[in-house]
Amino acid sequence: MIHVEGLRKSFGELEVLKGIATDVASGEVVAVIGPSGSGKSTFLRCLNLLETPTGGTVQINGTELTSPKADVRAARQEIGMVFQHFHLFPHLTVLGNLTYAPVKVKRLSKAAAEEKALGLLSRVGLSDKAGAYPSSLSGGQKQRVAIARALAMEPRLMLFDEPTSALDPEMVKEVLDVMKDLAKSGMTMIVVTHEMGFAREVADRVLFLDQGALIEEGPPETFFSHPKTGRAKDFLQKVL
Ligand code: ADP
Ligand code: MG
Repeated sequence: MIHVEGLRKSFGELEVLKGIATDVASGEVVAVIGPSGSGKSTFLRCLNLLETPTGGTVQINGTELTSPKADVRAARQEIGMVFQHFHLFPHLTVLGNLTYAPVKVKRLSKAAAEEKALGLLSRVGLSDKAGAYPSSLSGGQKQRVAIARALAMEPRLMLFDEPTSALDPEMVKEVLDVMKDLAKSGMTMIVVTHEMGFAREVADRVLFLDQGALIEEGPPETFFSHPKTGRAKDFLQKVL
């Protein structure tokens, strides 16, 4: 589904991604882990062209996003993204947050968008919050709304950038549970996370990034029990 080759990104003199290559299959759940500043967020952002790569190619479902001819808007519609800091629309209700893009971009009728939104709110356990404003929600509830909002666009791929890092500890589980359900439903997911338990339990594969390079890649059991490189061992010692 995703084919990444020689992906590079520099900001001025600083080379943040130094030639990343990987493939992700449909339905696969990939956890991206690594030290702060290793390029994890930049990698995700290059996959949906929130950042323009300075080298290499990204193909999603056979479309080369990095080609000048690519319909980036269309491709991006197939990719949902969830950030550490929610980014909900503060002036819209929860229902408004979920229906905004489907109505505006996908030209769904308001009624159809609302019906779909209510189904998604039930799926993330927030049926009673349709009329609430984001400011009245807890962090965990906000993040579940953000996930439902991304799903409302019917993406084929979901990218998560540290979705639980800004949450109080007691709210982490409710968000991870929603993500687990999503993984079970067959969604293709790439998740940057510091939740090693989640990576171990839910991911099919772990990518370990360090200093802009993909240093190790493999099934979580192998990676966590038998890291091959000194850098991965060091990292795991600090976080486990
Ligand atoms: P991670 O998500 O692994 O913590 P990032 O991808 O956010 O790492 O950042 C990797 C490096 O790129 C860091 O040194 C960061 O300062 C730098 N960086 C990220 N975004 C920008 C930007 N827009 N301009 C300049 N430097 C950036
Ligand atoms: Mg980051």
